[in-house]
Amino acid sequence: MSDDLAIAELDAPPLSLDAHRAIYGSLPPRPPLATAEHIVGRGGAGFPLARKLAAVASQRGPRVVVANGAESEPGARKDKALLTHAPHLVLDGLGLATRLLEAREAIVAVEDATAADVLERAIRERSDAVRVALLDRSYLTGQETALLAALEGRPALPRFQLARVAERGYKSRPTLVANVETLAQWALAARFGTSWHQSAGTRGHDRSTRIVSIALPGSTPTVVELAPGATVRSLLDAVGVTTGLALVGGLFGELISVADERAMARVLVDRADSSDELALGAGSVLLAPSATCVVCATSELVGYLSEERAGQCGPCDRGLPELARALGAGARPAELATVARLIARRGACALPDAAAHLATAITPADAAGHQRRRCHERPFALESREPSRG
Ligand code: SF4
Repeated sequence: MSDDLAIAELDAPPLSLDAHRAIYGSLPPRPPLATAEHIVGRGGAGFPLARKLAAVASQRGPRVVVANGAESEPGARKDKALLTHAPHLVLDGLGLATRLLEAREAIVAVEDATAADVLERAIRERSDAVRVALLDRSYLTGQETALLAALEGRPALPRFQLARVAERGYKSRPTLVANVETLAQWALAARFGTSWHQSAGTRGHDRSTRIVSIALPGSTPTVVELAPGATVRSLLDAVGVTTGLALVGGLFGELISVADERAMARVLVDRADSSDELALGAGSVLLAPSATCVVCATSELVGYLSEERAGQCGPCDRGLPELARALGAGARPAELATVARLIARRGACALPDAAAHLATAITPADAAGHQRRRCHERPFALESREPSRG
């Protein structure tokens, strides 16, 4: 295995509080905000944690902190792996946020019953005032505003944001929503210092390790911890994939061919700043080693997004099925671009943008190949989750 990555010990039992402290040592009670400065969000959007904390801190009123562990990308398992193996690291990060923001309420939101059980036990060990919310599974639940709606007992639907969540979030209170891996990273940086946290790499803002799940159709995802500088090739080598297609960064990411050496050489990062980098988004990679057709693969992905749409915004509700239909019918790139323009940036959430991005990446050569072969593959074998449609 390359030095760039390590297979995470998913099946290891959860670390008890004593074992956690023996490994990581104790946590400073009030580390400065500066310790969060280089930490980039690991939930998908890649937003800097320090800016989120500062935005909530600037608001008056009872504040709330929410650890988002509701990962909903198909094949995603890295948050579950972290929560079930190192729950105290996440709770440490949540505790730091609670103290720094003097929050009245702290919540961990998950969609997985095992993760919820492990967290409940971990919270009892440390007597923290943290609520674990086990939410219904849906693709949109992990979206920030949908998550808050679900926590308030309403359907998990994204909302158009007149005010930011930092100003009016959970029950209209100033709210920090941070991915569980982001909080765990902060717990490490607060203990060992920013220099230590950033010492794993030298590249721009991506200098710390990163947890990623890689899923082959029909099998349990493998969870890997990547060192900064790891390439797509080194990641795929870890699971022995040498053919087909890979969706890197989940449904908001990019579909690339494993045969494309240039794509394979791209460096995996939180936020891509150049063409030799590829963003990991929510930390999920879906593989389709048997895939031969980019159009069929894209059609399956867009069809999945269409099934998972919430049905509350007109352009998305009507446009996504139309885009999926056009892909299935082998439409030319120009026609796909026309439909994509009608839906992109016109919803309460970014789901239609993701579909438009995938559909418009199809090249004339991809379309011509699909026309020639008249193929109908579903290489990712995605199963629709419970749609959020209200
Ligand atoms: S954009 Fe689509 S998926 Fe997002 S909230 Fe609106 S209808 Fe739902």
